[in-house]
Amino acid sequence: MRIEISELPEETQLIVGELKNLLKKHLNEELIAEHEQKKRLPQHVLGALFEQGFMGMLTPEEYGGSPSTMTTLAAVGEEIAAAWASLMLAWSVQNTLAPTALLIAGSEAQKRAWLPRLAQRDLGAFALTEPECGSDSAALQLKAAKTDHGWLLNGRKIFISNAVGGKIATVYARTAPPKHTGISAFMVDMEAATANGGLKINQQMEQKLGVNASPIAELVFDNCELPRDALVGEEGQGFILAMKTLDVGRVTIAAQALGVARSALAAAKEYMGERSAFGRKLKELDKLRAKLAHMQTKYDAARLLTFRAAWLQDEGKEFTRLASEAKLFATKAAEEITNDAVQIHGGVGVILPVERLYRDAKVFSIYEGTSEIQENIIARELLD
Ligand SMILES: Cc1cc2nc3c(=O)[nH]c(=O)nc-3n(C[C@H](O)[C@H](O)[C@H](O)COP(=O)(O)OP(=O)(O)OC[C@H]3O[C@@H](n4cnc5c(N)ncnc54)[C@H](O)[C@@H]3O)c2cc1C
Repeated sequence: MRIEISELPEETQLIVGELKNLLKKHLNEELIAEHEQKKRLPQHVLGALFEQGFMGMLTPEEYGGSPSTMTTLAAVGEEIAAAWASLMLAWSVQNTLAPTALLIAGSEAQKRAWLPRLAQRDLGAFALTEPECGSDSAALQLKAAKTDHGWLLNGRKIFISNAVGGKIATVYARTAPPKHTGISAFMVDMEAATANGGLKINQQMEQKLGVNASPIAELVFDNCELPRDALVGEEGQGFILAMKTLDVGRVTIAAQALGVARSALAAAKEYMGERSAFGRKLKELDKLRAKLAHMQTKYDAARLLTFRAAWLQDEGKEFTRLASEAKLFATKAAEEITNDAVQIHGGVGVILPVERLYRDAKVFSIYEGTSEIQENIIARELLD
């Protein structure tokens, strides 16, 4: 597939070029299909991403990372998603959701303890959602009680990506009753917590609509003891840290949507050149030509919004509204583009690989803030 990255900065192009070699070497359709069935990501591919510096892209070098611009992060995210949305989800959580609270508010000792692990070897999760609340995360109930030695966690999280096979989690818990200001962020060594019986990680085995190779899990905390220094930032700062983390994550989810949309567009274009109906190639049929034109236009508009949000962040400018606009628009565009790609393929559209793109695209408008929540954020930034 032809990939137009020439308009991106040279450094970004170099990094994306390295990534393309990595993906070409390690991925093929058989491996992807097999792991989508198994509901697991291949360890050797995650290992290659760690080894080649793709897992700590917002983490400074002194903490073991390979720091990049947000523009590069978005371009890398788009590229991984164009190859495999499930892999991109794990990559995205690792680079944005897992380390951002530490990067913003961690003490020097916490950064030294956790960030090199997250950047170089240990899969990390972000645990905010609970059975009774997702969008309304300020209502979370998982309790963190102060003890003489540290903290005791009790409660449940669900839908947690990167927990199966993961070693570290940033966990949001209630330390006081007030809705927003009673939430705090904690670093949890999931391996240690599981070993001492305070944590159970239960993979949710239901067949998901999409991103099946990226497993989700329920985390059950049962008198899970944490040391005093597990608290990240101040007590009560957790909600703000979670929201700032999601701002960063949203740009990469918009990039995930771009990658999947780009692959669907490429597949549709190729098929229109191959398939004939009524004695003419599909690419000669006006209705399909118009469909493809709309698909490309939506992709291009989504790409402009996504890279604008990334650029604002690189410039140190306010980017909350643009990140939400990018996620809202790009995820909708991906749903529509993948739908049209299936339609253009006719019967074979419901068979791999284009059908996977269609299924994968749906979840982008749900996680890291649903589309309705993005609308609320955009309206709040405009009006309140
Ligand atoms: C594959 C997958 C991976 C995930 N990974 C993670 C993870 O790693 N960590 C994590 O913490 N969570 C994760 N999640 C959870 C995800 O972030 C939540 O599912 C999402 O935020 C929505 O929350 P909910 O499911 O509770 O839906 P609800 O909040 O119950 O929403 C139901 C519906 O009501 C709408 N709604 C809710 N409030 C409003 C409002 N104020 N105005 C208008 N409409 C509203 C929603 O948009 C939605 O349409 C994952 C989910 C999936 C599917």
